[in-house]
Amino acid sequence: MKKFNKVTIFDTTLRDGTQGTGINLTLRDKLDIAAKLDDAGIDYIEGGFPLSSEKEASFFRLAKKENYSHSKITAFGSTRKSGNKVESDPYITAMLQAETPAVVVVGKSWKEHVQRVINTTFEENLEMIYDSIELLKREGREVIFDLEHFFDGYIGDADYALEVLKTGTDAGADALVLCDTNGGTLPMDAIRIMNSLPQKDLAPIGVHFHNDTGNAVANSIMSISSGATHIQGTINGWGERCGNANLCIIVPNLSLKMGIETNMNEKLSNLTSLSRFVAEKANIIPDKNQPYVGETAFSHKAGQHADVIAKAPELMEHIDGKLVGNKRKILISGLAGKSTIVRKLAKYGDFDKHSEVVSKLFESLKDQELEGYEYEAAEASFDLLIRKSLDRFVSLFDLNNYHLESFKTTGAKSKTVGRIFLKTKGVDHMGAAVGEGPVETLDAAIRDALQHAYPFLEKMHLIDYKVRILNPEEAAHAKTRVFISSTDHQHTWDTVGVSENIVEASWEALVDSMNYYYNNYVLEKN
Ligand SMILES: [Zn+2]
Repeated sequence: MKKFNKVTIFDTTLRDGTQGTGINLTLRDKLDIAAKLDDAGIDYIEGGFPLSSEKEASFFRLAKKENYSHSKITAFGSTRKSGNKVESDPYITAMLQAETPAVVVVGKSWKEHVQRVINTTFEENLEMIYDSIELLKREGREVIFDLEHFFDGYIGDADYALEVLKTGTDAGADALVLCDTNGGTLPMDAIRIMNSLPQKDLAPIGVHFHNDTGNAVANSIMSISSGATHIQGTINGWGERCGNANLCIIVPNLSLKMGIETNMNEKLSNLTSLSRFVAEKANIIPDKNQPYVGETAFSHKAGQHADVIAKAPELMEHIDGKLVGNKRKILISGLAGKSTIVRKLAKYGDFDKHSEVVSKLFESLKDQELEGYEYEAAEASFDLLIRKSLDRFVSLFDLNNYHLESFKTTGAKSKTVGRIFLKTKGVDHMGAAVGEGPVETLDAAIRDALQHAYPFLEKMHLIDYKVRILNPEEAAHAKTRVFISSTDHQHTWDTVGVSENIVEASWEALVDSMNYYYNNYVLEKN
């Protein structure tokens, strides 16, 4: 087998990643994420484009004060503008002022862009690249040269694209990063192009793929066999349009499947928590189906494979999820049978398949499913069912009553006002809140009532709320099923509620969520 070189991992979540729809990070978020990336062993953290805004520039000022143990913070900018002197060019100046150990200079390698976008001659484009890299090197920076649209440029005019690579090498670039900026390149074309490059005469090669054909990860890992030693990507694959190459998939593929060394290999078991931490900071619901780190990456539903799942679930998994810090999950459903229930109960002790506890749970699961409850996506609610059947459930409170009123005035947003009366540990509490909708209002009113009795509630909050109508043919009498996802920044859990009344269904899921947190992470630290 061919021996591969060690691969360096370059993260651009804080720059390219924030081009993704709905991804907004505050300065604080960016610093928190950078610290986590450093922890995970990422080699380069691209902090942003210092010229673009004050927020971006201040990131570099603050990051300079941090003591990163491993990662190099990297500022992004482009080659000097056509007609500008490199010494006074604003892009180059901003990169230098960021005072980072490494910089990324983006330049054109596609003739079409040289002619039609930056409107200059092919010669001046080469000069712009040379001048910019040469100056940054002279100023003591490590220079990573990103060749924008390299693959399209190579197809358009291979000789010119090669000229650009040579110019970068001659100017002293430490890495030449071939960018698939439009993301349209397929693996066989990427490999063919990379294999045709005179790599011996060039600076080390890196790659930066976008995911517009769904091949960003495939292109990235294939590029290793064509000589790349530097891979750029983002956490969770975020980025413009269809995203960037997903480092949460690339890194375990390199480490676990290809035996390639990276500085992240040792800390691979932090990967799942890194993925979720970054999602949490960006306020994005983590993609459950994400390979390796997604919540369902190691989930099993009995069905056709019931036997294997019951006897040896590891035979249905491509790796042990623990290697990337993920967990195996056996999903619960009436179809699953008693052996799945026994497995679910294992957390609480050894139970025989024929025991009364198992039979009762099995029956109540079937009844609940007839009512419209579904526990596959609401394991926390199922956990509470188990706890109740084992007498290991402690309720956070007893409800006396709640009262909600919705207001709508012409020209203004509707509002909901709520009051709740409840009892906990023998003491009555009252809470009140105003919110946009009933769920938000109920959540806030419960917290208002319990803030002194249970200050830990502050640590958890809702991250997702889904509503589904179960029997639409019943029109106004249709049942509603509500799923709620919650987090305490360490764990996420899902609960379900079902009712003909949407507020009641939401209430059930909401109270389950709080009770799950209370029983599992406060009373018993799991
Ligand atoms: Zn990009």
